[in-house]
Amino acid sequence: MFRHTIPLGRIFGITVDLDYSWFLVFGLLTWMLAVSYFPSEFKNWNTAEYWFVGSLTAVLFFASVLTHELGHSLVAMRYKVQVPRITLFIFGGVSQIAGEPPSASAEFWIAVAGPIVSFALAALFLIMQPLLTPISPLLAAAKYLALINAMLALFNLIPGFPLDGGRVFRAIVWGVSRNFRRATLIAADTGRFVGFLFIAFGVWLALRGNFFNGLWIAFIGWFLESAAAAQVQQQVMQGLLAGHKVSEAMGRDYTPIPADTTLESVVHDHILTSGRTSFVIISDSEVVGLLTLPAIKNVPRSQWPTTTALQAVIPAEQMQWIRPDAELWTAFDKMGRSGIDQLPVMTDKKLLGTLSRDDLIHYLGILQALKA
Ligand SMILES: [Zn+2]
Repeated sequence: MFRHTIPLGRIFGITVDLDYSWFLVFGLLTWMLAVSYFPSEFKNWNTAEYWFVGSLTAVLFFASVLTHELGHSLVAMRYKVQVPRITLFIFGGVSQIAGEPPSASAEFWIAVAGPIVSFALAALFLIMQPLLTPISPLLAAAKYLALINAMLALFNLIPGFPLDGGRVFRAIVWGVSRNFRRATLIAADTGRFVGFLFIAFGVWLALRGNFFNGLWIAFIGWFLESAAAAQVQQQVMQGLLAGHKVSEAMGRDYTPIPADTTLESVVHDHILTSGRTSFVIISDSEVVGLLTLPAIKNVPRSQWPTTTALQAVIPAEQMQWIRPDAELWTAFDKMGRSGIDQLPVMTDKKLLGTLSRDDLIHYLGILQALKA
């Protein structure tokens, strides 16, 4: 699968990724600081100093965004909510929080932690300024970082989902109404409205001649609107799927492949004839694992006739699968998170069928038709 991110490392057990789009922001910010912001505030530096302090400040801004995300993540982990990764991208950062928050108060504190961290950073960069007065490049960086962190906190508190303020808003509606789905829909609709306001304001600015800022604000608005719209769609789908089990939608006519089949035969008799690229492998009618195209390609082609499926298999303990009595929504969520198109449905290593994206879409179509 094509990756858009570069892994940076792990912190508190959370993987930190850098999206390629972040380099665009890094470049633009460094350039803006080096040729415009610092020269107008601090005279008498040479060009190299402007660029050096510009890029240093951009890196510290990036560290500030990461600290903001860690604020969310560490509070989430206190509520026993897992945070597998943080991704830094063009609009800042995003913490991938596994599943929905356990309670309205958990959601409130997880969401509000990020802006609190940003305000704290702004205060820190503000109070250290008197100490930095003798070293004007460091003073310049601290001044800018105090400003940008305060702006980051304020921007994120705008009550439009998926911004932090939207999550705080959802937590409050959720706490009052005791209805998570309704709260999400209200917060997401408000988020779409806020997104449209940004777009309108951006277009207005652009038409008045402030082209770059206008375009940027409209772009952020478009991003907010589409993220909120996706949330609405997800809630509608979750509503339709609620109460339905995997066994209702799964395909039952699935033929697994015996473990002693050679890779050569898997490629010629199964992949090339069916177009499928992953297969459940069984031995004595027990599932031993999953054979995928990448796993086959790891074996040199010359060894395909002599290598069995069992030798190249991803062991059952490591593969993604689902129980027949699991909620369909859970399966959908699992597929989305892991980026796979098909889940084996099994109990006690017995394969009962498979659930594919197509099965889900087909079943959703039936549910929608019944509802209408
Ligand atoms: Zn945040």
